[in-house]
Amino acid sequence: MRMELRVCEGCLAGDHDDPAKAAVSQDMVACAEVVSEHKELVGLDAVYVTKLRDGDGADGALPAIAASIEDGCVRLADTQLVMEDDDGNLLVYAEAADVLQVLTRNVDQIGAHTTDDVGVDLGEAARRLVDES
Ligand SMILES: [Zn+2]
Repeated sequence: MRMELRVCEGCLAGDHDDPAKAAVSQDMVACAEVVSEHKELVGLDAVYVTKLRDGDGADGALPAIAASIEDGCVRLADTQLVMEDDDGNLLVYAEAADVLQVLTRNVDQIGAHTTDDVGVDLGEAARRLVDES
């Protein structure tokens, strides 16, 4: 199995004037890094973190792009989590709450299998998303 997290590079850096999204993106990356370091504990062969620049939607490691229609236009999701199973099927999560849910579940699973301190301190915005879903 492989996993790819895609986030907006500008949001991550705080350049896109969206502090809540910036904080959530940073928390997602922090979780993905923990999963990456301990990927064998959750049966993953590879974990990719891809930072997208504006309009860069297709530039990922796994061949899937989530999109939505906004005002009649196709908008590529700048935040998404793609999971590839061993048969090559792709699962795409495009809602931030779902992305966080999958990531934190993996972090929890890792925590149960290691004595390392792998907890990720989620910020306010991310915690709210996880609690609501
Ligand atoms: Zn952005």
